[in-house]
Amino acid sequence: MGKQEKKKIKSSINFSDLMRLSGMKNALIFPLLALIFIVIIFVYNGLLQSYAKKSILEGGELNAKNTAGDIELYLSTGINALEISSYTIDTMIKDNTPDEEILEYIQHESDVIIKAMLPGSTGLYACIDGEYYDGLGWEPYEGFVPTERPWYTKALAGKGDVVLIDPYLDLYTGQVIMTLAKVLSDGESVVAIDVTLEEIQTIVERSDTYGLSSVSMVLSSEGFVVAHTDSSERGNNYLEDKDNIGGYILTTVMNSEENSFDIKYDNTSYTVYSCPIRGEWYSISYADSDKVYRPIRLIVILSIISIVLTLLSFTIITVISGRKELANVRLQKLINSTADIYMSLCDLDVINGNVIEIKNVNPAISKAVASVDHNLNEVFFNIMNNLPESPTKKAAVEFTDMDTIDERMKDVDTLTVEYQSFGNIWVRARLIVSERTRDGKVAHVLWMLENITREREERERLKNISDSAVAANEAKSAFLSNMSHEIRTPITAVLGMNEMILRECDDPSIISYADNIKSAGTSLLVLINDILDFSKIESGKMDIIPVEYETGSLLNDLKNMIGPKADAKNLKFIMEIDPELPSGLFGDEIRIKQVITNLLTNAVKYTEKGSVTLKVGFGRKPEKTDTIGLKVSVTDTGMGIRKEDMEKLFAQFVRLDEKKNRNIEGTGLGLNITSNLLHMMGGELTVESEYGKGSVFSFEIIQPVRKRTPIGDFEKASDGDASKEKYVPRFKAPDACILMVDDTPINIVVFKGLLKKTEIKVDSAAGGRECIELATENKYDIIFLDHMMPVMDGIETLKELREKYPDNPNADTPIVCLTANAISGAKETYMEAGFTDYLTKPINPVKLEEMIYSYLPEDKKILSQ
Ligand code: ADP
Repeated sequence: MGKQEKKKIKSSINFSDLMRLSGMKNALIFPLLALIFIVIIFVYNGLLQSYAKKSILEGGELNAKNTAGDIELYLSTGINALEISSYTIDTMIKDNTPDEEILEYIQHESDVIIKAMLPGSTGLYACIDGEYYDGLGWEPYEGFVPTERPWYTKALAGKGDVVLIDPYLDLYTGQVIMTLAKVLSDGESVVAIDVTLEEIQTIVERSDTYGLSSVSMVLSSEGFVVAHTDSSERGNNYLEDKDNIGGYILTTVMNSEENSFDIKYDNTSYTVYSCPIRGEWYSISYADSDKVYRPIRLIVILSIISIVLTLLSFTIITVISGRKELANVRLQKLINSTADIYMSLCDLDVINGNVIEIKNVNPAISKAVASVDHNLNEVFFNIMNNLPESPTKKAAVEFTDMDTIDERMKDVDTLTVEYQSFGNIWVRARLIVSERTRDGKVAHVLWMLENITREREERERLKNISDSAVAANEAKSAFLSNMSHEIRTPITAVLGMNEMILRECDDPSIISYADNIKSAGTSLLVLINDILDFSKIESGKMDIIPVEYETGSLLNDLKNMIGPKADAKNLKFIMEIDPELPSGLFGDEIRIKQVITNLLTNAVKYTEKGSVTLKVGFGRKPEKTDTIGLKVSVTDTGMGIRKEDMEKLFAQFVRLDEKKNRNIEGTGLGLNITSNLLHMMGGELTVESEYGKGSVFSFEIIQPVRKRTPIGDFEKASDGDASKEKYVPRFKAPDACILMVDDTPINIVVFKGLLKKTEIKVDSAAGGRECIELATENKYDIIFLDHMMPVMDGIETLKELREKYPDNPNADTPIVCLTANAISGAKETYMEAGFTDYLTKPINPVKLEEMIYSYLPEDKKILSQ
């Protein structure tokens, strides 16, 4: 196992690092560099230009000088010939040589000069004593006066020197000709020689321009173009025709003391170099310096553009990469600060058994990791087994067992454990799979260890708060529930006593008072029951207990309960019952009845005129023949519900339209309980309502079928309506004897009162002990035994009676449990405990009578007429 290189993350990055990394600095440097480069280019450009200028000047100088030299050489041949000839003729004149001889000489000399020395020459001619002599035999035209010719006059002015006479176009030869003339020693004879300028033109054209596109020309001081690079310019006179560059240059040359200078003509710069020829002519060379500089400038501009573009792209690239780097730095910082949360961050290489530390705040741990050469199992073994003893140590050791990690992390990517670590701190360790092998095995895991001591303290604090809140709420629920229970007992008594008054009194006004007491008491009872149910639902103690029940009996109860209420308000109570409805179903009859009753009671409460309709039908599920969806809907023609109030409908203690409903009793709990109960039974309450027109509340719950027989025509089957009639007992049994056991004396009084007219003899006991005493001594026809009693409750009493006194006279006597526990399944519970039947409190007089009638021996019952 090679030693792994430790990966350390730099913990802090300062601003200058950031700048350096971000490339922002570079982004500033680049324009600066560009500036320096441009300056360099400009300097270089200056150097190049001065070099170019120097080249132009040197070229020009060379051109002009060479041309001048060549021309002087060419002319000197003519001059020399003229000098020699003039000397000879001078001598001949002095010697009085005859004219013919002189002419002969001139002719001979001309021949020699043309053939041997100056092929471009037109030969010698002279004016001696006013006589014209021509070497080539030219016959002067009439009126030709040699002494008036410029060559003659100029030669005289030359005082013995060879003079150059301005060129002219020789009509005879068609050539531009110039004349060299010299006055002889007699002071009046002149010898001249004509020289064509073709040779000078050749010299000028031959002159090297050094590739600088220069122009060479030879101008006379009068402006005559002796020779020119452009031969068509020859014969022009630049000084006469002012508007040309040649004239401008010549004037400047003649007025300047310098040989070279720059001029600007027609927006173009020229560099000029001039060289005088025999003080009469000028050999001039000039070049368009712009033409020379232009490519240099172009190169400079192109260089600048390319430098700027290059640096610009560098800047952009740098800024972009700088940004990327900045983002990376930020990410890194983010990771660092995230890493700061952890006390330890390690990459666990599960396959090779390595620990690669990313971060460790505890140097001791780092040391421990290093000491076992990063061996994964040994690292954890050393650390975890040394943890202080605590209830969490075992979990921590198991958590870091790398042999089981594959199994533990087969289906999950994260595992956490909290344990007590060194120094009494609490930590949370987390394992996160960061890499798996192809076959799904854990390859790399990130180990993260976080100090959660504070978090745990906070959690503890919040838990305490929540616990006390829950406790307070439970106390409230318990209080509500107890209070309701406690209130129910006296109400039961009040209603019982009131029933006595209703039965025994004939005074209509007192009966009307008692009726009011009955209705108010019943409402109070409903309210108390609602609060009880509500607190049960809230505390999660409400259970749905399904039992087999008769649909007919359920509907009958509803009819009996709601019918009178609807009648009292002059409302039509319509029951539309599907005749195919199975007669036996399986469900929580009591809760179903409660739900429908709530809906019907509301419908009656919130309807002033019209009708309340209860519709009960069912939907079959073809695949499940043994269950039906029991569909119930309650429709009324009442006040309806506003759209905006719909949401609040099921909220606890919320009543809508409070002003309008001020006089209608209610707590705002009914629908909340109803919808909760339906939820528990797998249904949902739906409401459709139109404000001012009425509402439809409906639901559907699944109910298994127990008896398929259809219920048939319900209206016909149910016998009439339970109208309020004066109570008349169904039978009398003066020989029968019943034992009633209840710890509340008033309940016994009520019980006795209810049975008064049946003339049955009622013994009573105030508790279990007394009950056993009486039951072991006397034989009773029925025993009514209260469930909830102090010291010994009903179930215990029955148990003792049956087990301890198996031979008591009441071994076969039906024993009925009296209970306030009106829930489904209560019957089954009591039957299991050994009771024959059960009766809910407050006791319903009709039910009580029916029950006694069914359990009394036939011979003791006398039916009423
Ligand atoms: P309450 O005890 O006030 O009747 P509920 O929870 O049963 O409480 O109903 C909540 C509110 O919904 C009622 O106060 C009433 O405003 C409205 N409500 C319920 N049923 C009907 C109905 N059939 N028609 C019109 N309004 C209704």
